[in-house]
Order: sequence, then structure tokens, then C-alpha cells
Amino acid sequence: MNKQQPTLFSFAKVYCSVFGHKLRVSKNITNHVHEYRCKKCGMEMTDTADGLLARLTPKFKETNAYLAKIHERRKRIFLAKAS
Ligand SMILES: [Zn+2]
Repeated sequence: MNKQQPTLFSFAKVYCSVFGHKLRVSKNITNHVHEYRCKKCGMEMTDTADGLLARLTPKFKETNAYLAKIHERRKRIFLAKAS
């Protein structure tokens, strides 16, 4: 008998499909855009420009990295003007 054991990963997936993902913010991109990671299965989501949640694809990662860079630069200019 070679019965396949369910892995922890698939268990997490079942858990998530029943109870929903346990999303935690993994990265702040801007004040309004954040990246999230599910505590249970590791799935990654992100806020989009439309204010929706989407799967964090490589394309979104790229966009977010770019957004973060602009945001960081703006913040620095703002701080420089404020002081
Ligand atoms: Zn999950």
C-alpha cells in the first residue's frame, strides 16, 4: 500500500478554502498599497491601484517595487521641505 499522505501544504490549502486566508501585511509599499502573505499557506496578495486585492504576481511585484521607490523619494522630499 502506497497511500499518499496529505502534506502540510495541502492541509493549509484546505484550511484556507474552508476558513479563508489569514492575510498579514508583509510589506508596506505606500500608505495605501500593501503586500500581504497568508499565515497558513503562504499565498501572497497585494492591493492594486483600483483598491482591489489581487494575487501577487511577478508583474505586481515589479510594479510595487517601482511604487515603493517613488514613494520613498516623495517622502524624502516632503521631509526635506518640512524641516
Ligand atoms: Zn491561505
